[in-house]
Amino acid sequence: MRKCKFCGKETGIFLREHRLALCEDCYPGWIEKQVDRTIKKFNMLNKDDRLLVAVSGGKDSLSLWQILKKLGYNVSGLYIDLGIKHNNYSELSKEKVINFSKKIDSSFYIISLKDEGLDSIDRISKIYRKTCSACGAIKRYYMNKISVKEGFNVIATGHNMDDEVTTLFGNLIQWDESYLDRQFPVMPSGDGFAKKVKPLVFISEKQSAMYALTTGIDYIMDECPYSKHATSISYKENLNMLESKHPGILRFFLNNFFNSKSKKGLQIEGSKLEIKECKICGAPTYLDICKVCKIKENINR
Ligand SMILES: [Zn+2]
Ligand SMILES: [Zn+2]
Repeated sequence: MRKCKFCGKETGIFLREHRLALCEDCYPGWIEKQVDRTIKKFNMLNKDDRLLVAVSGGKDSLSLWQILKKLGYNVSGLYIDLGIKHNNYSELSKEKVINFSKKIDSSFYIISLKDEGLDSIDRISKIYRKTCSACGAIKRYYMNKISVKEGFNVIATGHNMDDEVTTLFGNLIQWDESYLDRQFPVMPSGDGFAKKVKPLVFISEKQSAMYALTTGIDYIMDECPYSKHATSISYKENLNMLESKHPGILRFFLNNFFNSKSKKGLQIEGSKLEIKECKICGAPTYLDICKVCKIKENINR
């Protein structure tokens, strides 16, 4: 058994990439400190910001909610009920979010696709082959809508390091310059869109799961049944293999990407397209009719 670096207690928790052993009592505080560092490094948040954190009921978003609250930020949750019936996914995840909000004593909002005239992701998946992209557009739309309506100036999401690295790798393989330009842990507000931050970008999936475990977070273990995108899963597996042979390489990869962008000031710009108001709902969009109103039309026709 290794010994905890901080208190000397015997422990099985060892972070290879940091060559650091921590006991289950010292581990959560260490993670919180890492997140705090990321927030400060990228100027993500101030204590007088009003934050809306998008919560799915999974380990990453619930951990983020708790960490932001512990760090003293003014934070509320937003849960979007997608109406996914498989394994009772949406009902169960909603229950986890409601119970968790009580546990950490934080307020939250619920948006239901059904109430919004969007039926459910189950229904949308029958019309849109790229279900995740339609779902992503819907989530971004309501995060923005609630933040404007309720006066939140920052939206936080629980993307972890594995998510970010996989996205970066995919964007590099495709050499998708518009996505590469926009990939950064903080996106400034503008054109009717709230500021967006990803405070967990340097917390790996394993670290996040361990945080949830050591702080007793009750989260939904099932992945979204639509998230099984074959290519990105294969990227993730191969990147994990690389990480197991070279501990720390993924953090190095991501960190270098962000640092080189910071130096060049490349991350600051959003899209160069002209922003308009959706002719139906008035939301900011680059098209005449926003993607969500379009989806609504398509499923109700
Ligand atoms: Zn300890
Ligand atoms: Zn619209």
